[in-house]
Amino acid sequence: MNTKIYADSPAELAECGALLRKGELVCFPTETVYGLGANALDPEAVAKIFRVKNRPANNPLIAHICDHGMLEQIVAEIPEEIRELTAQFWPGPLTVVLPRGEKIPPIVSAGLDTVAVRWPEHPVAQALIREAGVPVVAPSANLSGRPSPTCLAHCKDDLTGKVSAIIDGGSCAIGLESTVILPMGGKKLKLLRPGGITPEMLEAVGYEVEIDPAVLAPVQEGQKVSSPGMLHKHYAPKAPMTIVTGEPDSVCAAIQQKQAEDVWVLAFDEYLPRFAQAVSFGSETDAASQSRALFDALRRFDTLPCKQIYAMYPAGDGVGLAIRNRLLRAASFQIIPAERL
Ligand code: AMP
Ligand code: MG
Repeated sequence: MNTKIYADSPAELAECGALLRKGELVCFPTETVYGLGANALDPEAVAKIFRVKNRPANNPLIAHICDHGMLEQIVAEIPEEIRELTAQFWPGPLTVVLPRGEKIPPIVSAGLDTVAVRWPEHPVAQALIREAGVPVVAPSANLSGRPSPTCLAHCKDDLTGKVSAIIDGGSCAIGLESTVILPMGGKKLKLLRPGGITPEMLEAVGYEVEIDPAVLAPVQEGQKVSSPGMLHKHYAPKAPMTIVTGEPDSVCAAIQQKQAEDVWVLAFDEYLPRFAQAVSFGSETDAASQSRALFDALRRFDTLPCKQIYAMYPAGDGVGLAIRNRLLRAASFQIIPAERL
């Protein structure tokens, strides 16, 4: 298949909207990561997403909307407290799991009776969905297991020859996938996946947030999961990665002891000069820069002659929770204090 790269002009977005309506796949930018889009109402088109990404059939997709009318079309009901919540955070990087409406084919939700919905803020994403005229399911536009794409080059690497269109929208502002929440009744929410909308932000507007144990720990055998995506291996670079915790000076000293030809470090900018071979993890004091840097850094390691990666560990508050969540998965939960390395 010939993959055409589109610009984000109105005429080209109209063309891409028409492709979606015809059942084709279109890769497009959002403020979180690039999405691999298909018409959410067309089960054949949705099936293509699972094939192209090699995505396990039990991992449900997020439906993207651009107005309230589309929301009413695809969910069976919306509790009042959740209407108030979305009024605060949509458009934006918040995904809400709601009872699935009849129009949404079961394949979208991997057979669950719920559907995950998000109204993205990125103007290109909004224009594309408007042009398509239908809700657009869009998982991250990577091959399953790889880090999510945060720029055009990542999408091309994974999807050239496999999709009809990729829209170039530059680099993603957040760089991590959306926050996913499950309403638990009233103002109670369960955080299934952390992202740009932080627990602190949800609590600040009066919601009670329970963090699912799978956010920071591996899912144990036999444990019930609320979000099937948590089960799958994710984001891992080809070389094994170990996270090293502790005071930055001790962390750097411990990693320095391990330096070798095929060892690379994921280091905050402030500490890059201490290592012969390191990739930037943004600034130690700027979580937004870390979230923008992480997936690009993970992909960089795969292009380097690298057999072992050591990573510094970000602070866990705010967006830091989401960064830790992705980093822990990328490291297959290999995490060790500096003094034991
Ligand atoms: P991705 O689009 O690749 O970023 O992944 C979507 C995430 O949303 C995965 O972690 C899914 O498990 C989660 N998700 C999607 N739909 C549902 C749902 N109906 N219930 C719970 N989690 C969901
Ligand atoms: Mg994904």
